[in-house]
Amino acid sequence: MSLNLLNFKNWRPPHLLFIKACSLMVVFFAVWSPPALSSEEFTLITLKVRVHLMQSASNKRLSTSLTEGGIKTIFEEVNRIWSQAGIRFELEGIDNLQALGIPEKRWYIKDRNWVKSAIPTGEFSASAIDVCYVKDMGPNGFFYGEPVVVCEKPDYHKVAGGCDNPVARVTAHELGHVLFLQHRQEWTNLMASGKNGISLNAQEIKDARKRALEILGRKPEA
Ligand SMILES: [Zn+2]
Repeated sequence: MSLNLLNFKNWRPPHLLFIKACSLMVVFFAVWSPPALSSEEFTLITLKVRVHLMQSASNKRLSTSLTEGGIKTIFEEVNRIWSQAGIRFELEGIDNLQALGIPEKRWYIKDRNWVKSAIPTGEFSASAIDVCYVKDMGPNGFFYGEPVVVCEKPDYHKVAGGCDNPVARVTAHELGHVLFLQHRQEWTNLMASGKNGISLNAQEIKDARKRALEILGRKPEA
């Protein structure tokens, strides 16, 4: 080694642009998640779903205008999104479900508890995940124990590579909660709130598949 290399008199501080570039790289790796694996590497797990199209004469916001054909289109997209995890949601059936005649609440649009209390649990499926569609409510969708409830007019921000069918994206997001996934800040992720991103990282796929197998009553994968 040349003695000149150890001569610190010639040392100069790094250029400001170099420091900025390094900072950007640190930020990138802090928010970057490992890309999802190809679905070809997974054994397909199929979960059944029963869709209820909510109807109500007294509370118009509960009455969805979605049709059976629309639901099938939505689930084609849901399954395209979830194919990255090797999980498929199969429609066990689609029915119209009359909401309970509970008194309308002035601000019920913001109240998910009110919406949930208007849904008759006696009509739920014994063998499938229940997903109810309503016309309008405060949140785009919610799940805190059955059923999943999805609004047919969600508000959301578009992100690069996001889903063009907002109701399908909300449905896929809520099914992520059914599979115990938590919210994520990364906008392009399926579990980001109020966005239309669809990506899942390797850990989320692993966790979702584990939960899906538990729902099926099978042993989790090693
Ligand atoms: Zn959510």
